Amino acid sequence: MSRASTAIFHCPFCAEEDLRPVAEPAGAWACQACARVFTVDLVTVDTAQIPGRLAEEAALERRTP
Ligand SMILES: [Zn+2]
Repeated sequence: MSRASTAIFHCPFCAEEDLRPVAEPAGAWACQACARVFTVDLVTVDTAQIPGRLAEEAALERRTP
């Protein structure tokens, strides 16, 4: 997922909803309440922590003799 496609609904610093995209750096947002300009990056999705994944792995283990 790129920064440009990430939808941000709240400022991570003050929780304000009035955010505006800024040109530079690409994908950054400006908070109209606290004046911070920030980006949000996805580092990874830890599939081991997803409950559905845990159920799937448990089902696979039951099939193993
Ligand atoms: Zn803010």
